[in-house]
Amino acid sequence: MSDLFNKLEKIVSDKYISNDIYVRHAYSRNVDIVLQGVPDIVIRPKDAQEISEILKIANDENITVIPRGAGICEFGGSKPIGDTGIVLDMKRMNNILNLDEENLIVTVEAGISWGKVNEYLCHFGLYTGCMGPGSGMSASIGGGISHHSVGGGGCAKYGACTNQLTSLEVVLPTGEIIETGSQANKYSKVPFNRFGNGPDLAGLFCGDNGIFGVKTKISLQVFPKPEFAEYKTFQLPRKEREVSAKILNEIRHRGIDVYDAMYIMDLIVRLTTQERLMPMWNQLKKKRGVIFYTIEANTEVELDEKVKLLDKIMLDNKTECLGSEISDGNIAKWHYTEQGHWQFYHNLWGIFPTMQPLTAECFCPINIYPKIMNDIDQWDMEHDEDMRKIFDIAGSRPIAGSGPILLIDGNNVEITCGFTSFSSYVDGKIHDFIDNLNLSLWKSLLERVTKQGVQWYMMGEFMSRLMVDIGAYSEEFYTLMKSIKKTIDPNMILSRGKFNFWGDK
Ligand SMILES: Cc1cc2nc3c(=O)[nH]c(=O)nc-3n(C[C@H](O)[C@H](O)[C@H](O)COP(=O)(O)OP(=O)(O)OC[C@H]3O[C@@H](n4cnc5c(N)ncnc54)[C@H](O)[C@@H]3O)c2cc1C
Repeated sequence: MSDLFNKLEKIVSDKYISNDIYVRHAYSRNVDIVLQGVPDIVIRPKDAQEISEILKIANDENITVIPRGAGICEFGGSKPIGDTGIVLDMKRMNNILNLDEENLIVTVEAGISWGKVNEYLCHFGLYTGCMGPGSGMSASIGGGISHHSVGGGGCAKYGACTNQLTSLEVVLPTGEIIETGSQANKYSKVPFNRFGNGPDLAGLFCGDNGIFGVKTKISLQVFPKPEFAEYKTFQLPRKEREVSAKILNEIRHRGIDVYDAMYIMDLIVRLTTQERLMPMWNQLKKKRGVIFYTIEANTEVELDEKVKLLDKIMLDNKTECLGSEISDGNIAKWHYTEQGHWQFYHNLWGIFPTMQPLTAECFCPINIYPKIMNDIDQWDMEHDEDMRKIFDIAGSRPIAGSGPILLIDGNNVEITCGFTSFSSYVDGKIHDFIDNLNLSLWKSLLERVTKQGVQWYMMGEFMSRLMVDIGAYSEEFYTLMKSIKKTIDPNMILSRGKFNFWGDK
């Protein structure tokens, strides 16, 4: 191992490599509490050339390399599977390389955050359309593209962040550096379009969860931010799941280009208010679920027309409009004008001390999410006995449920769903059984949701292997994915273990 360390150190210098135990442990986890893998080495390259050299050495030494952006994958995607490997920390590559204002394209290094890019763009009256994931203040653009990330912040209008991609520079697992889309033509000076010059090879790396290559340079379309916007929040009547789905469906069927539309279930409204995380809802008499919309326009007249259409849909469905100010409960205003879309989910992570969400994010058509939410409640009841074992130690009972439901492009939504549990460390003691139970409950819930036909986009260690374990992939799809992996990564260097290509269940 020291020979390998010396070879890698020559590439990046001693300042950007470490095998210290505390550094390795700092890179051994993502945001969940149950998956860990301690790397042998952590390295922080500065450019594609260094990454190419690192990958060539990793091939010679037959050691896995795991790309890591901000490391906030919810499924253990940016740490090793097992105690092994080299973690490639991309956060040093955090520069804006070019803003082509005329062609509306920004080109960045893959380790930069969504927050930093959008902070820069706002000085030009521009934004990235989809503002990336809810973790976008720190999450990297490379991580987002590797996950197909989508969060509140323009996802109803612009869809997942991969929709805005025009070109990628990728270091292949064997060290070659390629560019995709318009840049496949070596005479092209502007990374202006993703499709053409042959098949959409960028698509191979979108949502690949870091298995096909290391993204180093990313070009995205950017958009002028419209001058006018309106944002309103409504309380839902009874049967809120079904009513909210009806409203989202009607918005799509009327062809209204909402910027965001989101349903937040009653449980979240109740808990976040109770724990003083959402003071804006304190004064609500009934802690029912809410739904909000944000709409943008280039003129006041255009805005008024769209608002009328949206309000009619809302009021025809017996919702009650909350006041216009954030203090009236208007989360839509906070979400849009104060970048609440990058703060909201962080609240969900800290509702109670030691609480740990074991979550998942997936896409599904609007018309099936009420059924999925009801089935999650049913699952919760069926697992009451196990939940109570955790309650006996932690003093609170875990709950399964769903986070916000976001309208995304098409007639689809993104659901955050899962099970919020507690860590095994309670009152100075470690109760190992809690970790094991958390893991098996998480697996059982996600298997159940998968069987509702949802589409996972962030897969990491956990979901990529679960899909294989429960036989959810069609045989033909899985075989093709595996043969592509073998072709471009013959030694299976990159993110070894994901998707369980080696059958080592
Ligand atoms: C509070 C909170 C809110 C969140 N909200 C959302 C949300 O709304 N929507 C959403 O989609 N996700 C959300 N997430 C999950 C996650 O933060 C995002 O998916 C995010 O895009 C991950 O970015 P990252 O830089 O942390 O990537 P990482 O976790 O570091 O990596 C993600 C995956 O991409 C690979 N990878 C990273 N960089 C590269 C690269 N340059 N080249 C190749 N592979 C790479 C990694 O190996 C890993 O498999 C949330 C997480 C938290 C904690």
